[in-house]
Amino acid sequence: MNAARPGSPAGLREANRRRVLDAVLAAGEPTQSGIAAATGLAPATVSNIVRDLCREGRLTASTAVRGGRRVRAVRLTPVRGVVAGVDFGHRHVRVGVQPAAAPGADRLLAERATDLAEGHDAGVGLDAAAALLDDALTAAGIPRAELLAVGIGLPAPVDARTGVVGEPGILPGWVGIRPAAVAAERLDVPVVVDNDALLGTLAEQAWGALQEVSDGVYLKLSDGVGAGLVLDGRPYRGRAGTAGELGHVVVDDSGGPPGGAVCRCGNRGCLETWASTATVVGLLEPLLGAPLTVEEVVARARGGHAPSRRVLADTGGHVGRALGGLCSVLTPARIVVGGELAQAGHLLLDPLRSALDRWALPGAADGVEVTTARLGRHAHVLGAVALALEHVVASHG
Ligand SMILES: [Zn+2]
Repeated sequence: MNAARPGSPAGLREANRRRVLDAVLAAGEPTQSGIAAATGLAPATVSNIVRDLCREGRLTASTAVRGGRRVRAVRLTPVRGVVAGVDFGHRHVRVGVQPAAAPGADRLLAERATDLAEGHDAGVGLDAAAALLDDALTAAGIPRAELLAVGIGLPAPVDARTGVVGEPGILPGWVGIRPAAVAAERLDVPVVVDNDALLGTLAEQAWGALQEVSDGVYLKLSDGVGAGLVLDGRPYRGRAGTAGELGHVVVDDSGGPPGGAVCRCGNRGCLETWASTATVVGLLEPLLGAPLTVEEVVARARGGHAPSRRVLADTGGHVGRALGGLCSVLTPARIVVGGELAQAGHLLLDPLRSALDRWALPGAADGVEVTTARLGRHAHVLGAVALALEHVVASHG
């Protein structure tokens, strides 16, 4: 896209084109007067922009019958090819491929995943992703030339201004790297990168539990704890693209380890030290033996194992306390809990709800729905697909 200065005539024209494309994307096949009504732009302005976009091949005009009248409607010109999403975790990478013209939560043409060593460096991770991507394209019978863009999710803050991965300790092998630039060179396609909690948010917003929610929160509870925010119907990335780090809100810094433990960010008592998968299994391994998984803890808890139930309940309580503050400030309509710990279901969500009601400003949490994510383990790879699609729509229409 042209980097026109915001506020300049070229910047205004580009912003208006974006608004027209967004209106067409939202409505499917609107008329020009429908676009004018949706965007608030003057009919003549809409007409000029639609004419230019049709000429460029980004919109296709057709005649439709609405209310017995023949009208001229426009739609986005279908994009051929596929997009890929890549979801990096602390110990895994997952790749999914979808058709760009007909995306959806159930439209993954192929999906591949592999384990990675904890603390892996970026080069190793990207090599693994490139191999999985080739494998997935081959499995789906898609020639490499049809790959239009790749979205990548990382469990780390990515500075939107510089593209650099920040915060040592989360993915130490990636800090200081510009993954979009490195991956674009390696894969030879456009690559867009964002934080994985934000990608879970995009996926749940497009195809899951945040559909048609104008103010919502997606919370990822895994090795890392992070949130993605939807405000006024749009994902909110903040000044540097790193908004939503709920895992580093201090819940209580007064206790001994593991609560009140020193966090990898340098503070003590961050939510993540109280409510990550490592904390949950770490508290129970002395009783149940190591190595322990979240699946085993949840199975034990469902079977009535009191210590497992207690640890999940305490985890929900800590998360609810942090979310209480968030509710007081933002008053969301729905909170969606995803990540590995979401499989605990009501064992985690019920105490979370009680703590939320206790710690939010009276009234602020009353109408908030709390639910588990709908897309499960696919949420982040689907979000990476959604990010790649955003890029394709922005550059192809
Ligand atoms: Zn922290």
